[in-house]
Amino acid sequence: MEIKVHRGLDQIGGCITEIRTNTSRVFVDFGKNLPGCGVEISKDELSQLFESNRKKHEAVFYTHCHEDHVGLFIYVPNNIPQYIGEGAKFLYQLKLKLLLEGGNRSLQDAKTEEEQQQIKKNQEELKHKIEQFDCFKTWKRTEYGEKPRKIQIGDIQITPFFCCHSVYDSYMFLIEAGGERIWHTGDFREHGYMGKGLLPVLHKYATNIDVLITEGTMLGRQDNCIHEVEVASRMTKVMKQYKYIFVLCSSTDIERLASVKKATEWAKKSLYVDGAMSYGAMKLFTKRENKSSKGLFKFKPAYLDMSKPNWKDESFVLTIGVSHYEKVMEIKNQLPEDEVVLIYSCWEGYCQIPEQIVLNPNYKNFYEAFKHKEIIHTSGHADSNTLKKVIETIRPKKQIIGIHKEAGASLLDLDLDLSKELRAKIKQ
Ligand SMILES: [Zn+2]
Repeated sequence: MEIKVHRGLDQIGGCITEIRTNTSRVFVDFGKNLPGCGVEISKDELSQLFESNRKKHEAVFYTHCHEDHVGLFIYVPNNIPQYIGEGAKFLYQLKLKLLLEGGNRSLQDAKTEEEQQQIKKNQEELKHKIEQFDCFKTWKRTEYGEKPRKIQIGDIQITPFFCCHSVYDSYMFLIEAGGERIWHTGDFREHGYMGKGLLPVLHKYATNIDVLITEGTMLGRQDNCIHEVEVASRMTKVMKQYKYIFVLCSSTDIERLASVKKATEWAKKSLYVDGAMSYGAMKLFTKRENKSSKGLFKFKPAYLDMSKPNWKDESFVLTIGVSHYEKVMEIKNQLPEDEVVLIYSCWEGYCQIPEQIVLNPNYKNFYEAFKHKEIIHTSGHADSNTLKKVIETIRPKKQIIGIHKEAGASLLDLDLDLSKELRAKIKQ
């Protein structure tokens, strides 16, 4: 097999990796650059990427549905099949459907002809996107005790292995052809509720690997990753101190929502959501995961009903979306300032790094709007200690390639216990 990392060696996000044999090729991820992270690939460059090295059998596989991994799927030619986990497909479909509904509402509110035309154009693009995404093929997550299933693309076999990350239904891949074995980690971590499966899976299936392709997001970042259980416990303490709690967090991160839910229960309060995405995602997670998680991922989403005259009597926890600034302020401003707290449960960079603030000022706006606030967060990515364990467990025979990492960050910074030969084969 030949490996070509098109993007990701010196940037976080925008991942595109190509793996090919004489007759077949698969791409792992087709991600958009993260905001503020380099110039986006042009349509010409993309078609060039597909036109060169055409093979009889081709496919694209997505590790998960974050935009920096799936965001360019619309540019993949229709005759190339695209694959994603079944749960990730449902979640992303929900997101697209709600975007379309939001667009329809803005169309009704549009004041000028020009505005209307622009929205109509966006809506047409979105409809096309939805049609194409609906054609995605899926695999089902392997349940405990089941044998992992391989997907065959020409002479390449891909086996998806479920992993823990900050978005629902994420995977690692074992890619095999002609007796060679590649392990692609996608984005992953160990310090979440589902992270305890990481090392057992690697011990059992990531054996005899020739090349390891691993993410390295945390290499260049401050690295103090607390476990999700600790996130829930810190949230509980804060929730007990205040009457009204607003939690800014991702609506697609099933584990963070579980932490918020657990903390809410421990603090004996009621949990509400402020938007259709959180509502729909919680419904989806409950339907698919309640049983196998023994209730950890069981949610009962409800909207805060401000039409009730006594809505302020009840102590509550409200999960808030970053795009709902005005709506949330309307609620917050009706409450006594000293009884309200914001739990900021997102990456701190969003409200600290100037480029990030320009791209989406709402994180900082939220942070500054509350008198009382606490940052309680942990990364969706493996910390240095986990990366070291993963590399030393797999010990590939030929090469280690670090992707999804900042320019200048190196896997060699991990102080790895590896042979000199293998250390020399770490691709920077
Ligand atoms: Zn991700």
